[in-house]
Amino acid sequence: MTPTHPATSRFALVGGVLGVAAGYYGACQVGLGLRLPGATPSILWPPNAILTSALVLAPPRRWPVLLLAALPVHLLVEHAAGWPLPLILSLFVTNCLEAVIAAGGIWLFSDSPRDFDTFPRLTAFIVSAVIAAPLLSSFADAAAVTIFRGEPYWTVFLTRTFSNALAQLTFVPAVVGTVGALPHWRESRWTSRTTEALVLATGFGVVWVGGLDAELAQLPALRIVTTQTPLALQLPFMLWAGVRFGPVGAGVTLLATSLLSAWALVHGIGPFATLDPTATVPALIISLLVVATTLMYLSTLVEERRHTQHALAARLEFEELLSRLSGAFVQLPSDQMDAALDKWLGQIGAVLRVDLLALFVAGDEACAFRATYWWSERRIGPAPEIVPARDFPWTFDMLLERRVLNLSSLAALPDAARADQTSLKRLGLNAALAMPLAGKDSFLGVLACGSFAERRWPDELKANVRLVSEVLANALSRKRTEDALRTSELMKSAILQSLQTGVAVVDRLGSVVAVNEAWMIVARQSGAMDVAVGGNLLMSCEAAARMGDPLARALAPGIAAVLSGSQPEFSLDHRSDLGPAPRWWTLQVLPLGSPQSGAVIAQSDVTDVRRAELEAQRSRQELAHVARVSTVGELTASIAHQLNQPLSAIMTNAQAARRVLDSPSPDFAKLHAILVDIVKDDRRASDIIKRLRELLRRGELAMTRVNLTKLIREVADLVIGDAIVRGVTVSLDVDHHPVFVRGDSVQLQQVVLNLLQNAMEAVGDQPPGLRVVTLKCRALDGEAVRVSMHDTGPGLPAGGEDAVFEPFYTTKPTGMGMGLSIVRSIVEAHGGTIHAANQERMGAVFEVLLPVDAGQAS
Ligand code: ADP
Repeated sequence: MTPTHPATSRFALVGGVLGVAAGYYGACQVGLGLRLPGATPSILWPPNAILTSALVLAPPRRWPVLLLAALPVHLLVEHAAGWPLPLILSLFVTNCLEAVIAAGGIWLFSDSPRDFDTFPRLTAFIVSAVIAAPLLSSFADAAAVTIFRGEPYWTVFLTRTFSNALAQLTFVPAVVGTVGALPHWRESRWTSRTTEALVLATGFGVVWVGGLDAELAQLPALRIVTTQTPLALQLPFMLWAGVRFGPVGAGVTLLATSLLSAWALVHGIGPFATLDPTATVPALIISLLVVATTLMYLSTLVEERRHTQHALAARLEFEELLSRLSGAFVQLPSDQMDAALDKWLGQIGAVLRVDLLALFVAGDEACAFRATYWWSERRIGPAPEIVPARDFPWTFDMLLERRVLNLSSLAALPDAARADQTSLKRLGLNAALAMPLAGKDSFLGVLACGSFAERRWPDELKANVRLVSEVLANALSRKRTEDALRTSELMKSAILQSLQTGVAVVDRLGSVVAVNEAWMIVARQSGAMDVAVGGNLLMSCEAAARMGDPLARALAPGIAAVLSGSQPEFSLDHRSDLGPAPRWWTLQVLPLGSPQSGAVIAQSDVTDVRRAELEAQRSRQELAHVARVSTVGELTASIAHQLNQPLSAIMTNAQAARRVLDSPSPDFAKLHAILVDIVKDDRRASDIIKRLRELLRRGELAMTRVNLTKLIREVADLVIGDAIVRGVTVSLDVDHHPVFVRGDSVQLQQVVLNLLQNAMEAVGDQPPGLRVVTLKCRALDGEAVRVSMHDTGPGLPAGGEDAVFEPFYTTKPTGMGMGLSIVRSIVEAHGGTIHAANQERMGAVFEVLLPVDAGQAS
């Protein structure tokens, strides 16, 4: 990881400079100590490898500083060796050249310069640092040594190339691996691996000590083994280290082996004591090079395999988690989701191997985060209070735009993200990865991973977090939908319960889906409708209908018709006498939404409306009665005149009869004829009185089959006297065939009487010859009958066609304005219509249409 924070970076640079100086110094001492007496090149020259390691560990921009850090040490050490300054400087340049070629090659060709754990990475290292760098730099180095010290060029070249190659091969992986692991050593715990490493180191040490021991070296078998097959005893340990501890383990054992071998050779101890050093040195270097390269490749391959296995295991673990996670949330009811999210977050965090995992769930508005699910590796307790929009404004804006936050260190945050940085510090986080959870068209929340240390977020981890976030987004989206549905259900049920009207909702088969309390209160009184949710209302009504329940008999077919779609709606009025006072109900069946998806049955109490209607009807009848009384009052003169005729005739006949009786021989035949006349006149008089009494009768509406033509003639008879007095000609144009309507004869008489009287009054101001009222009655088509009243009066006032029917509309000084209003209410109560208009030439016409009664006389 590259520390980029300025403070960290400065600290790393100082550490690097000091490390390079100290390492270079130590390495020079080792290198100088591993020279054969009298030779300038040493068997193993590690300072260049130390420089290479430093350059591999540091970013290229730091290289000049690090290289310069080695200069004073170089000058100091080599000056002490008594070499001329030009040579010292030349050697420094060649050393630097080697390090730069080595590290440059590694940085150029390796995808991860600090790792040697894959075949391509190791090859990049071997080619750049072990082959190219020592080889190329040795040309210059050998030249300098030859010039300033007079040593043979190619001997120096070969010795330096090999010793440097060996140093690169053994030092760089060991040093880079060890320094790279340093930041994590505090986190490491004692494990079986630590014990294994310790056992390995001890065994390795024992073998070396044994191999170098002068007395043991005297053992013939041991001497043969160590001299004939050098490193035979160390090889198992090196293999062990390579196989079990990877390239770094192999590097460390190789380093120790090289150092110890070179040391033993220089000092002529152990197996090399009896051998000629000039021949042994190249042999040892070559064999070490071969063994080291082989071992490095072997350990790399093993490491690569181990990595693959780990990656596979991690992948499998993740896949399994993902499938369990999706499985768990697919069927989970939304109210259990909170607890499940809490539980699952820990498992996800453990599998993703992050220090902290947090899930922020957006509320209805994207900015209002409602709940936070929190899991931390350090188990720092309940979720701290976080308001994303306040604590992480910069990050939050980014996430709202559906972008991912990928933060490897706090230093990478821009200045605009000060608040975010403070919040991250407060939480102890140094790196974070946050992904928006996006629904189809909404922002559902954020899934965030945190790390206490700075770290990069590899692509695979990002992909895994994305997959988890998709599963969680689906779950949250479903939860949101279900919550909304539940709220809407609650709302619907609350609305249903608040209704005064009883409501039952049935499905297409008639089963009750929902009812409210108002419905149940009424339904409990009527057996047929007392069906709870889940029961079948239609079947219950049909059963009650078969038992003879009149309400059920009317309702069942209505419900069935609406449910089957054959009728758009159905309504029914019924009266219930179950309570202390009678109540009226209206039952209405309406289809639900799409056809055949059920129906709503509403039962409303219309008792008050019905009472008001009855009251109004009664008032109307009272009023009509009053109107009739007043009409009759107006007709008094003409009625007296009409009655006068039969009464005078009776009187005359009675006197004639007395005279006949007074005669000595009364003529009985004549007397009989007189009496017949008297009876006839009396009947005429009593007919007039009967009709008058009928008109004055007050009473309930009595609907019967009425002969309309006869009724019209009788009313005309009643006003005929009045007409004569007013000088009005009343002309009747009435069908000879009787036309029957269904209605109340008194009320229908009132209609004709009122229209006639209005017409006669209208023509009153016309000259005597022009006072004509024509009353027509025509059956239209067997369905309706039209009664029309034509007059030759002044006609209706302008715009009065509708107004004349309004109550209290009058143009007469003594008028009440109720006549036509009563007429219209009577006509409408008989299922008919009335309208008024002006005739073309003069006068008004009033037309009444009534339905014909085609049935039998009742
Ligand atoms: P009223 O006779 O007490 O005025 P009505 O309701 O019978 O009450 O009539 C209302 C009004 O309608 C009358 O005042 C009159 O202006 C008008 N009207 C009624 N019949 C006729 C008609 N045949 N010709 C002209 N106007 C009429």
